Order: sequence, then C-alpha cells, then structure tokens
Amino acid sequence: MAQTLEVMCVCGYRRPVHIGGLMQTWRERAYWPFHCATCGMVSVNIQAPLACPTCASPAVTPYGEAPVSVKQDCDFAYVQAWDYEACQYGHLCPACGQHDLKFERSRHFILSD
Ligand SMILES: [Zn+2]
Ligand SMILES: [Zn+2]
Repeated sequence: MAQTLEVMCVCGYRRPVHIGGLMQTWRERAYWPFHCATCGMVSVNIQAPLACPTCASPAVTPYGEAPVSVKQDCDFAYVQAWDYEACQYGHLCPACGQHDLKFERSRHFILSD
C-alpha cells in the first residue's frame, strides 16, 4: 500500500517521496506530496486536516492538481493514492520553479511496508 518514489528535475533537484500508508496505520496516516507556498514540496497526511507538516499552513496544494501540476492528461495515473493521482510529468519543482519535475519509480529504495 505504501510506495516510495523519487522525484527528479532537469535542474538536478531530486528527493524520495513516500506515498500511501502502512497496513496497520493507514486510517490515521497516509501520505501524498503537496506543495506548500512557504516550504516547497512536503509530505502531507491526507487522513488528517490538510496542513503543511513544517509550517502548519493549510495553504497546501496536492501534486497532480493545477497550478502545481500541469498537463495532467495522461491516460493512466503514474502515482495514485485514495482520491489523489498524478501523471509522471509536469510537476512544479520547488528548486527551480519550473514544471519539469517528474516521478520515477526508484529501485534505490526498499518498500517500508
Ligand atoms: Zn509549509
Ligand atoms: Zn527544478
């Protein structure tokens, strides 16, 4: 149920992102990448009132939705969890501010579930 992907951008920005939740705790904790106007890309618990985990701001936008993600017209979502889904390409990079960020299923991380 949980998966770890990597996001990467042409500018060199990259980081792992955890999506979904663990078998025992997904009703309380499940994660999806959001963009916080202050903090950039953050993992937000979608089973609680949505807020940035770093600055507690409720002004967070899920990846996969405009204006954080553009051209989300792929036939099949590349990543998906609950009501959230996103294509592989077209996401806002918190480092360079362009929509060149993409999701990548990584072989470098082991599923934590
Ligand atoms: Zn924040
Ligand atoms: Zn970038």
